[in-house]
Amino acid sequence: MKRVSFDLVGNDGVKEYLSQSVQNGKTAHAYIVEGRAGSGRKTLVKQLLQALSCEEENVPCGKCGNCLKIGSGFCVDIYTVKVPEGKSEITVDIVRDMISGMMISPNDLDFKAYIIEEADKMNNNAQNALLKVLEEPPADIYFFLITENASKLLPTVRSRALILRTAPLTEAQMLTVLKNNGIPDNAKAKDAVKAARGSAGEAISIYRGDNEISKNRAVCDGLISILCSGIGSKSEFTGAHHRYFKKPEDMAAVYDLLLGAVRDCAVIRKSPRSELSYFRTEDDAEIMMAAISDKAALQMSEVISEYLYMYEVPTNHAMTMTEFSSRLWDAHLL
Ligand SMILES: [Zn+2]
Repeated sequence: MKRVSFDLVGNDGVKEYLSQSVQNGKTAHAYIVEGRAGSGRKTLVKQLLQALSCEEENVPCGKCGNCLKIGSGFCVDIYTVKVPEGKSEITVDIVRDMISGMMISPNDLDFKAYIIEEADKMNNNAQNALLKVLEEPPADIYFFLITENASKLLPTVRSRALILRTAPLTEAQMLTVLKNNGIPDNAKAKDAVKAARGSAGEAISIYRGDNEISKNRAVCDGLISILCSGIGSKSEFTGAHHRYFKKPEDMAAVYDLLLGAVRDCAVIRKSPRSELSYFRTEDDAEIMMAAISDKAALQMSEVISEYLYMYEVPTNHAMTMTEFSSRLWDAHLL
């Protein structure tokens, strides 16, 4: 009998369950893998597929032909569906295209696998098209629907698949994952782990500075420094808006963070040691705390909230940026 062990930090319950399923030859034909992005969902699927196809005794060995092919992401029998670049949903055409290839026999493996990333982005027509194959699945085919929130899938789809849930990792587990990815256990790594709240993938992105969140945080830190360093000016503040925010959504994403920072200041004053939303520690908030009064924080919250409320309404973006940056500047001086 195969001995299965997954090389994945955390999620012991799911790993144990899947190991038993593979050992007993009782895997389901369709799984919904639910959990936060970066919590190990795709790694788990990959290793399960390796375990199912690996010829060794201890699986997945990670070294045989099948393991290597699957590990590299270039196995022709594994088909991945994603939301197309620049689009917001997975349409029925994409799902039909996927289904049309299902009758062709596998090439390298004994089975074929279909992985749908952000499965909840399938629109209803797409999910209904998929439902037909989930109801009467062709032989030797596995489906993996990856999602952050299984309840966003149609109940009919949910009832045809087994739900596996990956849990957020603890900070210690995340540091182990970072270490496995060649990241040293230093203060920067610890900050990234704190900010990523249970998602090792996100912690790695934050550490390397290559994700949207860390970019937005950097812009937000920049705005705070112009506002609060004592050497910035209103025109510099407005200029930064025009430089950074090509679209209203860009500005809204950063204003959302800025609102968290302003609220943190108010929260720290009222009850120290409370949960912060933007700053990692009270010390990080020091410069902003020193520069803005309670009255300023309140007025700034109002200006930012007003923008977040209206930014989707079409207006002249350049004029709106000038107006709000100017009002925010005035508010911070109160
Ligand atoms: Zn192998």
